[in-house]
Amino acid sequence: MSYSIKSRGKTGILFTNWSNTFFCRPELFFVPENVHHLKEIIRLAHLENKKIRVVGCGHSPSDIACSKDYLISLRQFDRILHVDPERHQVKVEGGVMVVDLISYLEKHGLALRIAGSVSSLTLAGAICTATHGSGVNFGNLSTLVVSMEILTSAGEIIEVSRDNDLELFQAACCSLGALGIIISITYQCEKAYSLELNQYPCPLHTVLENLEVHLKSSEHFRFLWFPHTPGTVVSHINRTTKKIVMPSRLSKWHSWFWEYLVGYYVLELSYYISTLIPSSVPFINRLFYNLLYSKPRKRVDQSQNIFNFECLFKQYVNEWSIPIDKTATVLIELENWFSQNTDVRAHFPIEVRFVKGDDLLISPSHGRDSCYINIIMYRPYGKLVDYIKYWNAYEDIMTQNGGRPHWAKAHKVGPMQLKEMYPMYAKFCQIRKKLDPTDTFVNSYMERIL
Ligand SMILES: Cc1cc2nc3c(=O)[nH]c(=O)nc-3n(C[C@H](O)[C@H](O)[C@H](O)COP(=O)(O)OP(=O)(O)OC[C@H]3O[C@@H](n4cnc5c(N)ncnc54)[C@H](O)[C@@H]3O)c2cc1C
Repeated sequence: MSYSIKSRGKTGILFTNWSNTFFCRPELFFVPENVHHLKEIIRLAHLENKKIRVVGCGHSPSDIACSKDYLISLRQFDRILHVDPERHQVKVEGGVMVVDLISYLEKHGLALRIAGSVSSLTLAGAICTATHGSGVNFGNLSTLVVSMEILTSAGEIIEVSRDNDLELFQAACCSLGALGIIISITYQCEKAYSLELNQYPCPLHTVLENLEVHLKSSEHFRFLWFPHTPGTVVSHINRTTKKIVMPSRLSKWHSWFWEYLVGYYVLELSYYISTLIPSSVPFINRLFYNLLYSKPRKRVDQSQNIFNFECLFKQYVNEWSIPIDKTATVLIELENWFSQNTDVRAHFPIEVRFVKGDDLLISPSHGRDSCYINIIMYRPYGKLVDYIKYWNAYEDIMTQNGGRPHWAKAHKVGPMQLKEMYPMYAKFCQIRKKLDPTDTFVNSYMERIL
């Protein structure tokens, strides 16, 4: 039986992540159509002593979704199985994309409670890495899981929920894809709502001095800092009953001109030129801050259109979480480090977001309200840029301030350090080993952290 499933596996596939920064050539690439196929793949893996990884949309900027043995895409598991309008819950298959879920929910008068910068992710992938948005009273996307069905390496389907087995649930909601294959998710949503964005420029030190006030004065506060400049752009976002005004043709054209022609194409060209003249980066950051963000802006739109924003072109990113009360310390340390290391030219933005603490075993917000600081270096037209010195300094600063790396992003943290960062790390490892004693779902990313 297993040998017929083998013939469904494609050879010679090159998998690259969204940023083209990591790739793998799995021995076999599967796009199964049903749970029976999945069970057969697991059986085949045991027979041939192979490892398995499931890939979502491959948006993780690391090798977390890579496999040299079997790689499985659940793109055929993309059905919405059930909507519960009373509880505002939805049950979906493990390969559903967030963007499709959002449009489905909209038709039923529902919406996600929170979203990250983009929605071209699978819900399972987003949950596995504890993808987050911003809002100190809102947890990451994993915290909204009601229950999940997971196919384990023993070929059994287990249902995990808070009521069934609390610790297993707390491990499964941020599992790095290491507990098994998530084949369905029941997810907590809420009634559809609009958001009002109030965005304005503000100096970094003013934001930091008034951080408490900012955090309390809107539901989804976030800000972007433009390194080598004192400038930030602050976004306060709140639920609103105000009407959505459809943009006129002229304002659509205006947005396209500034957000795409200038904010994307001219920026990419400018950063490309800066690879030849590195000292121009601070000038570029200042110029684009003044061009794009120096004027206040208000907008009412559907929730996902405000949560999501244009993440532009290919990039290296690094993101860690720190306890929320370390926000100002870390950003000031980073600012001082830039002024002492003038050979390092950082691209904008440095994105600062806030997430409510939770009880998931290895969520980066475990046990504490957190600030996430995301740094970026673009790769204009795919050109390699130097980021190592910047990354090392950032990671040192984050580590010294109680930082924990975002699981989706490339990091160098090993098991000893992880045990210090996460009080429940050993428990997570125990649960993983119990569920996957054959290490079937362990890839090279997992090998480095276990
Ligand atoms: C442009 C961009 C913007 C982003 N914005 C944000 C943001 O705002 N906030 C944030 O926190 N992160 C952000 N990220 C990171 C992103 O949310 C995570 O990388 C997320 O995990 C990607 O989802 P994916 O479907 O692409 O999963 P993949 O990257 O394909 O996989 C992620 C993990 O999930 C596992 N997995 C996927 N499906 C299953 C399944 N069915 N069963 C078991 N395991 C599974 C994989 O094995 C892997 O371990 C961003 C990334 C990009 C490229």
